[in-house]
Amino acid sequence: MVVRPLRDDRYVVETDHGTYVVDLDERSCTCPDHAIRGARCKHLRRVAIEVNEGRVPPPGKRSAVCAVCGVRTFVPIAERGPQLCDDHRFTPGEFARDRETGSVLVVTELTTERADEYETEEGRTVADYETNVHYGGHEPVVEAAYVESLRAVDGVVDLEGVRRYGFPASRLQRLGRSHPRVAAAPTTDAAPV
Ligand SMILES: [Zn+2]
Ligand SMILES: [Zn+2]
Repeated sequence: MVVRPLRDDRYVVETDHGTYVVDLDERSCTCPDHAIRGARCKHLRRVAIEVNEGRVPPPGKRSAVCAVCGVRTFVPIAERGPQLCDDHRFTPGEFARDRETGSVLVVTELTTERADEYETEEGRTVADYETNVHYGGHEPVVEAAYVESLRAVDGVVDLEGVRRYGFPASRLQRLGRSHPRVAAAPTTDAAPV
């Protein structure tokens, strides 16, 4: 049996006996077995297994390739532009280190605009900057603010009005959600051999 996702969240199942359409949400299949007995036929079961094992995207998602590492990942069907896998994705509010300067930033937004298309206030694209030549122009731009520039009001960090900068995704290194002062401690990066 070969399972292929359709654009409308359903799946085509090709078998030696015929080709059927499975709808996981409706728990339906177009095969005679399902039509006659309303049984949970083997096609429905097969689609569920393939989704669970990550071989086909779940309903509402589509396959995409991570712009940083090239690994296959699933993203919402409506998402356009360059995409990132779970390992390279950024979530607003998480800390990241700039690989060029070592500065610690807080991510404000993960865009789906390419670095060679995203224009800064200076009217240049992010990819145009000399500090970004080693990062892919096809990568999505991550917007982030320098931690030093953040001001806390009543103990809550206010991201409104904070100056944000755009970076190619792989220029920033994720630091997780730990406190930036802890995360910014010297790392044990391997020495050149
Ligand atoms: Zn069936
Ligand atoms: Zn990746």
